[in-house]
Order: sequence, then structure tokens, then C-alpha cells
Amino acid sequence: MFKITILDGYVDEPTCLGVPPYISPYPRYIAGAIWSFFKSANISYLTIDQIRKDKNFIQVLSKSDLIIVIAGMSVPGRYLSGFPASPNEIIYLMNQLSGPKKILTGPAAKFGFGISGGRKTRDIDFVKDAFDLIIKGDGETVLSNIFKSEFDFENIDASKSRKNASFIRDFAVLGSKIVKAHPNYPDYLITEIETYRGCPRSIIGGCSFCSEPTKGPPDFRPIKDIIDEVKALYDNGIRHFRIGSQPCIFSYMAKDSEKNEYPQPNPDALEKLFSGIRKSAPNLKTLHIDNANPGTIARYPSESKQICKTIIKYHTPGDVAAFGVESVDPGVISKNNLKASSEEVMAAIKLLNNVGSKKGFNGMPELLPGLNFVFGLIGETKKTYNLDYEFLKDIFDRNFLLRRINIRQVIPIPGTKMYDIGNKIISKNKQHFLRFKKKVRETIERQMLEKMLPQGSVLNNIYTEKHQGKLTFGRQIGSYPLLIGIPGILNLDNFFDVKVIDYGFRSITAVPYPIDINKASRETIEAIPGIGKKRAIRILAKRPFRDKNQFSSALDDSANINDILKYISIKN
Ligand code: SF4
Repeated sequence: MFKITILDGYVDEPTCLGVPPYISPYPRYIAGAIWSFFKSANISYLTIDQIRKDKNFIQVLSKSDLIIVIAGMSVPGRYLSGFPASPNEIIYLMNQLSGPKKILTGPAAKFGFGISGGRKTRDIDFVKDAFDLIIKGDGETVLSNIFKSEFDFENIDASKSRKNASFIRDFAVLGSKIVKAHPNYPDYLITEIETYRGCPRSIIGGCSFCSEPTKGPPDFRPIKDIIDEVKALYDNGIRHFRIGSQPCIFSYMAKDSEKNEYPQPNPDALEKLFSGIRKSAPNLKTLHIDNANPGTIARYPSESKQICKTIIKYHTPGDVAAFGVESVDPGVISKNNLKASSEEVMAAIKLLNNVGSKKGFNGMPELLPGLNFVFGLIGETKKTYNLDYEFLKDIFDRNFLLRRINIRQVIPIPGTKMYDIGNKIISKNKQHFLRFKKKVRETIERQMLEKMLPQGSVLNNIYTEKHQGKLTFGRQIGSYPLLIGIPGILNLDNFFDVKVIDYGFRSITAVPYPIDINKASRETIEAIPGIGKKRAIRILAKRPFRDKNQFSSALDDSANINDILKYISIKN
């Protein structure tokens, strides 16, 4: 039987994430395209991390008739559970495989390989000899033409894009079962869901660094198509969803989006979409959003407020609307055709804080803004860094909360205005960038975390991912989850509730809650506020404890005893 392997080298684009724990729509649509032509096709799905960890997976690749590699990072990210495939890695892997036909698709094929912030993408010519075909158009569209043509690679138009959003409807539904092959399936896998692509601002050229305007004005997926895809994923065991693949969720089905740079949001469409998702996935565990345009929110406060309320009604808490601010320097805004002024961003922050800052059932605020800043843009000077810092300080002083502040350097992508500028400005302002980042970390981010989650706050369902020294790192599942360091070695791939005890610049320290004092490690007990090393050693020597009274009497003095008791439980 014809064997096909989809190798997921992960994608990270301004409007789509596919680095674990996320799975992007790319492999799902491609699997759907294959199954719609070959109902019983034998498709293997592998991630680049599976191959990095276990070279035996190369056997799966070598026994395939066709390998489809998905790759491409066009925004720089920080990752905990996986890292996008590099061009060298892909060449090395492909060169070991002489039998199968090899195809590359994804953002790397369109725009080249992003390596890291501040560096130009590596041209696709670098990897072209390793592949039989590079799909510069849409993977599922070109592949379905390949299947129709009975694998006539020679005459295929590899730059073909989908006709419209409805073209992917059946592929999205059919391909949903590929998620079962992901190593994070089912408990720790988030499916990125597309609602549209293209940006209303493409009519005026879009932002100088962004590839999205090359897709034209928005092409919305019908509400029913999205809901049917969610249902298919849910029926296949998926419980975590992010409605994240679009430039601005507030602009979904917005009126006149092909004519207006800031189209009027459509609250009714959002209500139908989110209520329909909830109905078709009643016991979902995560429903989050991603990008939002602060310029649109500021222009349409009443529609935006209604949309925020709708999102909060159906989502799960800890949700983040990521605002692409990039810069508040008026000179940089105008030279790069950015989407919002500082006043507009502030108005959008205020609106979201008013509606979304209340804590939800998992201990996190319902819906907060996150801000993305991009450096290295045209017109940037030392003054830009001062203005951006003053703006952040103003947000802090007004007591508004931000879930995250993302500070990065631009990746100059082919086809954008920034490509011609390259990394000239980045190199010139490197020291300003580093100083700014440090100052924001040290004087704003940490303090903001303290305001958002005061000591003693409880957070639920922290998934443990990694050990480092005597610490366990975990996060809640969702959009931009907060990194949590837990003193002690806890079982990985488990869920814990925790209580906050301390703060890093972009993370918190917390202990499991409640702590089973008869079983916890010394590191965990020692970390409970008011215990410390000596008391922890004494507690270890005197356990097991029958009850809290016996535990209290075993402590050397009664200082902070009531505070300490709030962290612990006694199980026999
Ligand atoms: S608003 Fe700017 S950054 Fe956002 S998708 Fe459109 S062009 Fe890209």
C-alpha cells in the first residue's frame, strides 16, 4: 500500500502556531487532502522532535513512498516543548533518504527559513536540492492537484493557492484524526484553529514586517465549517482549542473587510461561532484566542466590549488577546504603517482590563491583553526605546494588567518592506535593545506578575513538563501560559494545583497545593513560606504526622503556624 509520512518540522507565523504543545492546521489539512483522495491511505505523522529523540523513526521515513515536510518560523518565539526544524537539520535528514519522493511545504517554502529574531530568513534555494518539489502555494491545494494528476510532479503548479476558504472545509474535517498520532495527544495537545486568513490592512500595504498582507483581504471560513472541524477534532479526543489562526479575532466576519482597513466588528458572528464551538465540544478543557488588533478595538469600543463578553462567556480563563503594538514611537508607526497609536493601544488595554481582569475558575484572569513589541523597524532610534518604556510604565502606573510583554527583533521576510532594510537597524541599536529588555523585565514584568497573582494565589491544572536541577517546570494549557517553577521533583506529564510563593521576571515559583506533608520532598517543604531549610529537616525527621495538630506541635516554635497550615494537607 502507498505509504505517506507527514514530517512536522513545526511552524511559527504571525497568525499561526504549530510548535508543541500546538499542532497547526497544516498537517491536518494535508492529511485531509490525502484521505479525501485515498480513503485508506497509510499516513504516518512524525514530529521533528520524535526523530531527534529516537533515530529509529528514520526507518519510518525511509519506508515511505512520499514524505511531506512542513516547516517555517517567520516570527521568533521561545519554546519549552519543541523547537522548529532548522534548514541544516532538514537537509541532513532528507539526504539520508534516497527512496521516497520528498516535498517541502509551509512558511519556509514561501518565505525561507527564519532562524532567529534579528536575522534575515535563509533562502529556500539552500534546501532545494534535498526535495523533489517545493510547494510555494498551499500544501493541501497543490497536493490535491498532484493526486489528481497521478503524481505528475513535472507539470504541477507548485505556487497554487486555495480558491477560497471553503475549499479546505472537507480537508479540515477529514484530516482531524491525524491528531491521534501526535506525541502530545490527547492530554497536552492544543489544536490551532483557523477562522480566516488575509488582513484588512492589506488594502493599504499592511505593516512593514508582516507577510500576512501577501494573502490579500480576509477570506473568512464559514462559521459552520469551523464548528464542524472543532466537532471532528473533539470526536477524535481533542479537548484543547485555540481560535488563533487569524490576524484579529475581533475582525472575524467584520463588515466591509475588503474595503476598510479597520472593518466594523460583527459581534453576532462571534456569538454564533463561540456558542457553536461550545455546543459541539461541550467538555472541552481549553478554549482560547490569540491575535487582536488594538486599532480596531479602540475604534469600535461597543462592539469590542460585546465580543469580549462573548469570548468570556464561552472560553476558559487565562485567555490572552495578543496586541501587535510593535512600537508606540509615532515616527516608527508612520514609517512602518503600523496599526495603532499609543492612545488607541491604551484604550484597548483599558477596555480588556475592565471586562476581563476578574479571576476565573483556574485562578487566572479571564481575558487580558498581551503586548508584542518588535524592534529593528524603520525609523527606530534611541528615543523609540524611551517612548516604549514610558508607555509600559504608564500602563503599570494606571494599574492595568498585561498578561505578557513580548519583546523581539524583527525577522526580515522576503516580500515585505523590511526585507530590503535587513538587520541594519537591529545591529545599530543592539545595545539599546538589550538594555530595554532588561529594564522591562526588572522593573515592570515582575511587579506586574505580583499584582496579577499575589502570594498565596492558587492556580489549577498545571501540567508538568520538564525537570531542571531540583525544580519541576510546568504550565497551564493555553495561549501564552505562565511558566511555573515548582521546587522538588514532581512526576512529569501530570496535572497539579499550585500555590504561588515567589516571582521571577517572567515566571512564578509555586508549591503543589495542598502539599502532602508526609510525602513531599525536602525541596518542596523548604519552599513553603515560613519553613526554610532547618525546619524542613526537622519536619522530615519527625514525619509521618497523624494530623495537623501533631504537625503543629512538632514544629519548634509556633511562629507563622497558621500561615504554614494553609499550604499543607496530611494524608495517612
Ligand atoms: S495588522 Fe499588520 S501585523 Fe497584523 S496581520 Fe495585518 S499587516 Fe500583519
